[in-house]
Amino acid sequence: MRLAELTYEALAERLRLGPVVVLLPVGSVEPHGPHLPLGTDTLISEAVVLRAVTRLAERGIDALVAPAVPYGVTDYAQGFAGAVSIEASVLTAFVRGVVTALLGEGFAHVCVVNNHLEPEHDAAIRAATEGLGARASVACPLTRRWGRTLSDEYKSGACHAGRYETSLVLASNPELVCEPKARLLPARTTSLSRGITSGERTFAEMGLDQAYTGAPAEASREEGEDLLVRLAEMVTVEVSEALAGT
Ligand SMILES: [Zn+2]
Repeated sequence: MRLAELTYEALAERLRLGPVVVLLPVGSVEPHGPHLPLGTDTLISEAVVLRAVTRLAERGIDALVAPAVPYGVTDYAQGFAGAVSIEASVLTAFVRGVVTALLGEGFAHVCVVNNHLEPEHDAAIRAATEGLGARASVACPLTRRWGRTLSDEYKSGACHAGRYETSLVLASNPELVCEPKARLLPARTTSLSRGITSGERTFAEMGLDQAYTGAPAEASREEGEDLLVRLAEMVTVEVSEALAGT
C-alpha cells in the first residue's frame, strides 16, 4: 500500500502490470487545541488515503500511498507554540515537484489529499497541480461539494480541533488524543470561515485562546470512523472522475 515500503523491483513490476494511481497526503504542523497533536492534519490525510486505497481497489483501481508532505501554510495559528508555517510559493513549488516526479515515474494519476483547511494553504496546493489536467487532482473537503457530505460541526465552520477533527484522530490514532483534556474543554461556536471572511488573521484575533473551536468533548471514535469513510469516498470519486476524463 505504501510506496516507500516497496523495493524498486516491486514497484517496477507493479507499474508493468497496469496503471497505478498514487495518493499524496498533505497536512501541516499546527497547534490543534490542548488535546490533539501538532501533526493532526497529516494524520487525518494519511488515515483517509489508506482507506481510499481499499475503496479504489474495489472499483478495480490500483493505488499506492506516497510519503506525506507534513508542512503547510499555517498563519492563523501564529502565537501558539508549534505553528511551523512555510511560504505558499515554497509549498506550491515543492508539491508540484513531487507530483511531476511521480508522474515521470509512470504513475497514471496523482491525487493530492489535503486536510489542512486554511484557504491560502488550499490555494497553494491547487496551484501545484494547475495545468496537469486529468493527470493530477486535489481532494480536500474545503469545497461545497465535499464539505456538505460531512458533519454539522464541520459545516458550521467551528471545526478546528473540535468534535470533527478530534473524532477523526480518535479513529485513526487514539493514543495521540489526550481524552481527559478533551472532555473538559467547553464548546466554542466561533466559525473559522466567518472569521476569515471578515478579515481576522489569527486564531487569537478570533478569540480562540486555546487554538480550537467546536466541541472536542463531544467527539467519538464512531463518528471519526464514519467521517473517514466519507473522506475516503471523496478521494475515490475525485480519482475515478479524473481517470474517466483521461
Ligand atoms: Zn486541522
